[in-house]
Amino acid sequence: MKVFKFGGASVKNAEGVRNVAKIINRYSDNLVVVSSAMGKITNLLETLGKAYFEKDGKADSIFNSFKAYHNEICAELFEERKTPDSVQNLFTELEIKLNKTPSLDFDFEYDQVVSFGEMTSTLIISEYLNVAGRKNKWIDIRTCLRTDNKFRDASVDWELTEKLVTGIFNFEKERLYVTQGFIGATTWNLTTTLGREGSDFTAAILGNVLNAESVSIWKDVPGVLSADPKKMEGTVKIDALSYREAVEMTYSGAKVIHPKTMKPLHNKGISLYVKSFLSPDDEGTVIHNIDHKIELPPIFIQKENQVLVTLSPKDFSFINIEDIERVVNFLKENRVTVTLMQQSAIDLNLVLNDPDAKLENIFQELMPFYTVRYNIGLTLITIRHYTEETLDWMVKKKDIYLEQHSRLTARMLVKQ
Ligand code: ASP
Ligand code: MG
Repeated sequence: MKVFKFGGASVKNAEGVRNVAKIINRYSDNLVVVSSAMGKITNLLETLGKAYFEKDGKADSIFNSFKAYHNEICAELFEERKTPDSVQNLFTELEIKLNKTPSLDFDFEYDQVVSFGEMTSTLIISEYLNVAGRKNKWIDIRTCLRTDNKFRDASVDWELTEKLVTGIFNFEKERLYVTQGFIGATTWNLTTTLGREGSDFTAAILGNVLNAESVSIWKDVPGVLSADPKKMEGTVKIDALSYREAVEMTYSGAKVIHPKTMKPLHNKGISLYVKSFLSPDDEGTVIHNIDHKIELPPIFIQKENQVLVTLSPKDFSFINIEDIERVVNFLKENRVTVTLMQQSAIDLNLVLNDPDAKLENIFQELMPFYTVRYNIGLTLITIRHYTEETLDWMVKKKDIYLEQHSRLTARMLVKQ
């Protein structure tokens, strides 16, 4: 069996849904189709979640846009321009939720509201495939993808998930399943999400536990590119990458695939295809078990909204191993992720990825020992497989805050 993942851009309108059906119809394999919310619906639902939580009176009109967006797509897809009952029931469910008083836990409420994007998109896709003659079974992934209760950033309970998923996606009577990316549920059946853009990860989780032959992510780009074409000229498509290369790229900020996607696939040696839903005949990129030292062009990755935090011991002593230990433990306890670390005699530099809490609050505990300085709004530029020429390009950048080179990777933190 194969797992296909379709992102929001592929199902942003009725034409997109029809195109997805066409792609599915090219394959006679047993398939699990994982979909994200349609278009930019998750962003809209984020504002809805906020309005609901803050009771600022804006929830009604946002909810109406949510409904109108999907009704319009349904009108183009279904007979008599009718939104399927199953979809209308979801709208009612969300409306009931919005009429209740929210709890005090924002992250919990966020997940309860935002998950409606994936629920709605998959029901529309599944209903459309059925009426278009491609029989399929819609699965509520929350019945089998089990997570802990860290709302908005839940971790998967692999053992339980494997047991439940293999029972449900058993292909005994079905050849095609349609289900949601990005969402899951706790053992108490409370809806959770895996973090923004988490649908790729869902596809990888299902691929792993179902021992898929391959996982394909259908995108609006021809595959993995050597740089973001919106930011650089002369990008080339890369035909094949090792898991390791792909992990490095996505971790550094390449947005083409969610960074958590690689591990579950690597662990089972499952190939990942990145293909274009606009030209499904084209090869795309394959990520699999190959020697990562194969010739690759320089690959450019930019990660914005980085913060440089510099800690300097107040008594002017050198940064030693105890300092590093203290800081690392502190970061671990506070679940702060660091993209890069570097030390000099009296500075310990940490690069953080867009922290959502106030920095002063995060680092308060360390203030008695260190002077803490921040630089916000920085961009981390990574070049994998750098050359003399690309390094020259890089050092011409102004306002360099930090630089780090290893054998294959050059990194530079700059103000753009
Ligand atoms: N719909 C979710 C988001 O936009 C998940 C995903 O697209 O992967 O973040
Ligand atoms: Mg998305």
